[in-house]
Amino acid sequence: MRREISVLVPTPAYSRLTGPLTYETEEDVQVGCLVRVPLGQRDTLGLVWHQAPEQPPTSSPTLKIIHSVLHGIPPLSANWLKLIDFAAHYYQRSAGEFAMACLPPSLRDMTALQFERKLSRLQPLACVSAEKALAPSLTPEQTQVLAQLAQHGGPFLLHGNTGSGKTEVYLRRAALLLEDSPQAQVLLLVPEINLTPQLEARVRQRFSHLGDTAIVAMHSAMTPAQRLNSWLAAHLGTARIVLGTRLAVLASMPHLKLIVVDEEHDPSYKQQEGARYSARDLAVYRSQLEGAQVLLGSATPSLESWHHSRAAVAGQPVPRYQRLSMPSRVGDGALPLLRRVNMNNQPRKTLISAPLLAAMRERLGRQEQVLVLLNRRGYAPVLHCAECGWKSECPHCSAYRVFHKGDRTLRCHHCSLTQAVPRACPACGNQDIAVLGHGTEKVEELMAEMLADLQRPDGSPLRVARIDADSTRLKGELVKQLAQVHDGEVDVLVGTQMVAKGHDFRRVSLVAALNPDGALFSADFRAPERLFSLLLQAAGRAGRDAQLGAAQACEMWVQTFHPTHPVFEYLKRHDFAGFAAQQLLEREQAGLPPFSFQALLRAEARTQQAAQDFLNAAKALGEARLAADAGVLSVYPAVPMSMQRVANVERAQMLVESHSRKHLQQFLAAWQEDLQQLRAQHKAVLRWAIDVDPLAI
Ligand code: ADP
Ligand code: ZN
Ligand code: ZN
Repeated sequence: MRREISVLVPTPAYSRLTGPLTYETEEDVQVGCLVRVPLGQRDTLGLVWHQAPEQPPTSSPTLKIIHSVLHGIPPLSANWLKLIDFAAHYYQRSAGEFAMACLPPSLRDMTALQFERKLSRLQPLACVSAEKALAPSLTPEQTQVLAQLAQHGGPFLLHGNTGSGKTEVYLRRAALLLEDSPQAQVLLLVPEINLTPQLEARVRQRFSHLGDTAIVAMHSAMTPAQRLNSWLAAHLGTARIVLGTRLAVLASMPHLKLIVVDEEHDPSYKQQEGARYSARDLAVYRSQLEGAQVLLGSATPSLESWHHSRAAVAGQPVPRYQRLSMPSRVGDGALPLLRRVNMNNQPRKTLISAPLLAAMRERLGRQEQVLVLLNRRGYAPVLHCAECGWKSECPHCSAYRVFHKGDRTLRCHHCSLTQAVPRACPACGNQDIAVLGHGTEKVEELMAEMLADLQRPDGSPLRVARIDADSTRLKGELVKQLAQVHDGEVDVLVGTQMVAKGHDFRRVSLVAALNPDGALFSADFRAPERLFSLLLQAAGRAGRDAQLGAAQACEMWVQTFHPTHPVFEYLKRHDFAGFAAQQLLEREQAGLPPFSFQALLRAEARTQQAAQDFLNAAKALGEARLAADAGVLSVYPAVPMSMQRVANVERAQMLVESHSRKHLQQFLAAWQEDLQQLRAQHKAVLRWAIDVDPLAI
């Protein structure tokens, strides 16, 4: 008996071919099965999306026949297919592209036979031991939060200070649900696994009784073979806990009972290319679909989640999330004091002010550690000739090339163009070119100079180390460097925001942000939110050692030209709620998210004009569509992106905004068709994309 089936294939984004394709089969293949199908000249992986009723054996000459079925695993569940369908619609991509992006890459090139062999080599379930790892007794706040998790459905937002024991809550809740049912699965999402190697160790240790194969990691730095193994373990149910980054939110987990989104405010939950989805938002949707509990956690929640978890008010819509709080730190670990250095009173061009240096020296003298933050890597962001005004612009980007002293290169951080530092000004031959500004390399050098006279108890010099994207380029380097900090081999750690996240640096008692002012007056309305979160999280690295904290209050230092700025006032009081209320009021008055919904249309072309022409034509078509319901939606004029040119490609964008998510979604779906046609008339456009709920504007 033959049958028609529709199959999702990896259609390129925005090709006209966005729906599933119809094939013919004589086998009985169920919806959710993986198949190999012909596509053009190729043979490709497909996912059975829909099945037509059986038909009489009059084979249709136009339909192609599927090549093979990947047997041996259950089909992907109806819920998983719904998740893909929802996500593809919501983020304006084809379901085929979305589905294929969620499957492990090595599946795409596997024949049915290879797949069979792979399955036969899968590891058997490791034997489990009855012996359970010891867990600490809970704090009263943890006990209360766990009781609420047991009583209510959620979604939950856990607002817990840094060091308040959120991770312990996640582990306890997971343990309970895993014990409840022998099949239950838990998904634990983290922003970047590499930044928190301790967490994986902690999870493995706590759940060692389930056996080693019951816990799998899932992130993009894994090899294709590892990713396939993890994916299969999750899909087959042998993995009871999946610990992963944003892509893991789309893993197939047929018995999912709990999703935890740790550090839910972190921008890395938003995919920034291809299908631009938010893993946090999909986690919430997925939990409802699967009847699983979802728990978002952070010391500095996103203002969206904060707003969604506001207190209920009679007569107003019920807030979407339930808020849980853990304001205290575990043990005696006190929260650090904020110290502001008014840079207006410091000599010009001061990088590390005298009072800050004195405080550091005092801490170091007591064998405490110091963490120094500067969000700029390299030695100096610009090289400059005072004679003729030449600056180290990148010829291909609207950015300066950064001076790296280590290998004496000028490097563009956007297109990676790397050249040796010129000996003389390339424009006028002046031998004397100077640096402008400073980066982490410079701070590292300067700190070592300023602390050269200090010694460790054994008489050896103090050790200053740097952690940023440059120092950790090689695989394994980050883990190694972080371990050195933990082991106390490093006294002063200089780094970018990379070191501000999640780490548990026990002996750090002073954290300093050298130059955080840039974010105070940024054009991006989310900049203050991100700065507050960065500083509060960074401050949270300090004073985690209870013994240290009790003896000597820890400090967070901020060097600023705007010491009375409200961001610092709230930071001083560790008052996230106050900061959030003030920001949300401003956003409400300005009609910004979460009080409105946004999407960006982006276009790239060889010239800015061509990119903007496409956007403006799109605007005209969009406005024609909007004529009927004017007022519900605004399409703003096309503008160059803040990074206007990267690798000789000009970029422009256009904002679409509505107070109604539904209207925005309907508009985008219809507009999508206009755009596909428009593209054919705008041959100069290289790429275009819609970004729904964009994070950076
Ligand atoms: P968070 O995730 O909120 O930053 P963690 O869960 O990592 O906090 O807890 C901070 C530290 O306190 C960790 O070292 C953890 O082992 C410890 N801790 C957490 N809960 C307890 C508890 N109930 N009793 C003792 N120590 C705890
Ligand atoms: Zn460049
Ligand atoms: Zn010059």
